[in-house]
Amino acid sequence: MNIFTPSNIKELFEIRAKHSNAVLLAGGTDLLAQWHNNKSHPQKVISLSGIKNLSFVKEEKNYVEIGALTTHSVIAADRTIKKLLPVLSYAASTIGAPAIRNMGTIGGNIANASPAADLPPALLIYDASLILASQSGNRELKLSEFFRGYKLTALSDNEFIYSVRIPLPPADIYSEFFKIGTRRAQSIAKVSFAGLIKKDKKGIETIRLAAGSVAPVPIRLYETERFLQGRILTRSVISSACDIMLKYLKPISDVRSTEEYRKFALKNLLTRFLNKA
Ligand SMILES: Cc1cc2nc3c(=O)[nH]c(=O)nc-3n(C[C@H](O)[C@H](O)[C@H](O)COP(=O)(O)OP(=O)(O)OC[C@H]3O[C@@H](n4cnc5c(N)ncnc54)[C@H](O)[C@@H]3O)c2cc1C
Repeated sequence: MNIFTPSNIKELFEIRAKHSNAVLLAGGTDLLAQWHNNKSHPQKVISLSGIKNLSFVKEEKNYVEIGALTTHSVIAADRTIKKLLPVLSYAASTIGAPAIRNMGTIGGNIANASPAADLPPALLIYDASLILASQSGNRELKLSEFFRGYKLTALSDNEFIYSVRIPLPPADIYSEFFKIGTRRAQSIAKVSFAGLIKKDKKGIETIRLAAGSVAPVPIRLYETERFLQGRILTRSVISSACDIMLKYLKPISDVRSTEEYRKFALKNLLTRFLNKA
């Protein structure tokens, strides 16, 4: 196996131009597990870990930007993220166990495109975008448009995720992330849920809902959001919101859980969120 170790982005582009079939390696927590399970190994690997300026948290006027190589431990502990994006901070703290959080990165969590990944639901309710970089320049793409199908993304062959840009959420919101796994640590979600809500006297002013492990990709629950928009939260509204959410979902049954359990659990998570809001 050839392993390339660029120390800056220019070198990364040069290597990729010559070795278009090389696989990018960040923390390796997904890739090494996949290689181990498939018992097949790529011939060429480009490690991103030597590119120091890919790990950062920057607060700008209207958004927070997080470099793709930033680890889950850093995201969970960072004061700016804790204060401005608490759901993201908490979601990062629920990933795996300390060793996985110290190695796993936000870029890898997104690019791996697992329906069960924990950061995407949190990022979806914050309406995050990705900065995708290639030799011909950068483009910004909403995370909601990045996932194209099971383990499929909008990344083109010569692109990589440079950073995640998260607009500052409105003031006075209530937000939550819930994850149901087999146990508290080292457990991939059977179901996850993230919600953000802002209410005024007339009803719900802003609502964003997202879920993981209930579809081929992490999703925004747009139909449920549309139903709830402008309404006052009563028992019957919450019950109808759950019915609408389940009408549009067809989770799979797999080794981790069944379709029925996933629907049951997600309904409870939405109800819990709306009751607390
Ligand atoms: C024991 C264990 C427990 C786990 N628990 C959880 C959990 O609770 N929640 C959870 O969400 N995940 C969990 N994971 C999965 C994994 O740790 C995370 O998804 C992690 O964030 C992956 O990041 P990485 O840097 O290790 O990615 P890598 O393994 O290095 O890469 C993953 C994929 O992303 C690509 N990639 C990486 N960085 C970039 C980039 N910047 N641009 C483009 N492509 C890129 C790689 O080519 C590869 O295809 C667990 C894994 C293990 C082994």
